[in-house]
Amino acid sequence: MIDFENIVDQELVKKILSGALKKDKLAHAYLFYGEQGVGKWAMGLELAKAVNCENKKIIPCQKCNICKKISRLIHPDVRLIFPLPPLEGKSESQKEAEKQKLIRNLKEIKTSDTYATLRFFKKTTISVDEIREMKNHLNLKPNEGKKKVVIIKDIENLSYSGANSMLKVLEEPPGDSLLILTTKSVDRLLLTIVSRCQLLKFSLIPKDFIKGELEKRLKLSSKKASFIANISKGSLGKAIYLAQKEGPLAQKKAKDFLKLCFENDFSETIDFVEKVSKEYTREEVLELIDGCILVFKDLSSISFGCFFSEAEKKEKLKDKDLELLRTFFKSFSQIVIGIREAEKTKRAIEQNVGVDLALLAFLIKLKDKKELMVK
Ligand SMILES: [Zn+2]
Repeated sequence: MIDFENIVDQELVKKILSGALKKDKLAHAYLFYGEQGVGKWAMGLELAKAVNCENKKIIPCQKCNICKKISRLIHPDVRLIFPLPPLEGKSESQKEAEKQKLIRNLKEIKTSDTYATLRFFKKTTISVDEIREMKNHLNLKPNEGKKKVVIIKDIENLSYSGANSMLKVLEEPPGDSLLILTTKSVDRLLLTIVSRCQLLKFSLIPKDFIKGELEKRLKLSSKKASFIANISKGSLGKAIYLAQKEGPLAQKKAKDFLKLCFENDFSETIDFVEKVSKEYTREEVLELIDGCILVFKDLSSISFGCFFSEAEKKEKLKDKDLELLRTFFKSFSQIVIGIREAEKTKRAIEQNVGVDLALLAFLIKLKDKKELMVK
């Protein structure tokens, strides 16, 4: 029996892959595509376990040595490739040390939760060297498992020379190997790569599933889980990121962003918007706005007692930034307007309105509200 119990939803993908496994008709290369945080990476690992698992009755069993090693991301036959930011360091050995450190951190995040999303605030790439090393890896016989597997995260970050090198592997996959490529969008890839893979689309995860997972994984209250499930738009990875307890970066940045909007004059606001739209990727801006929604939620909780327990409220009351922002959002309807405008801004950015324009419009709406309050 094939049981992808670690995968949330994605029934169609599970059905297709289970069918192929049963008939022993897996493709050599898969391209998993869909939004960030919907389970592409997690499914890559489960598939790597399924083809190598030692159990005969249920695969992947999660209990055998091979399944366990793959879960811990230390199986020698399963190679994992992540896009990395530019490496800092003067000498080659320093760069290599930096690279190993980054990979260790990434693996730590992914072993803590396979749905956790990885974030870099710089442009990332997969270099041609990675693809060369991957080829060497595939040319060797499996060490412990039955099949060599390579999982490449966010293949759209592949460098041009890397893509060329990759094409050759896809044309003639060495021996008994399985390649799993993941991407957010097929549109950003070379057609020659796409056409050599079997495509599997990962859909957005229904809100109720996300809510359930947040309650189970992070022990969130039903109300809080429901709120975060609503704003994470079908991505469990994003929901986990937004729900993490220790004041996630998105909220800290959002507080700075909102404070700036209320404390400074307009020209400074414009400068800031310019800076953000140059330095942040579209996803980071969307995250910043999600952060604003979470801040609005905190404000409504402190002032009007929704969402939080008394203990959580007490904790939030110590937050100086929130205290300041409370002076600008005094009524419940003002907070609702804030949330509504944030949602509108997100939609505009998702529909490809320029980030600078969308952010500026958002801030003007919020500032407008402030001026109305002063009158
Ligand atoms: Zn197993």
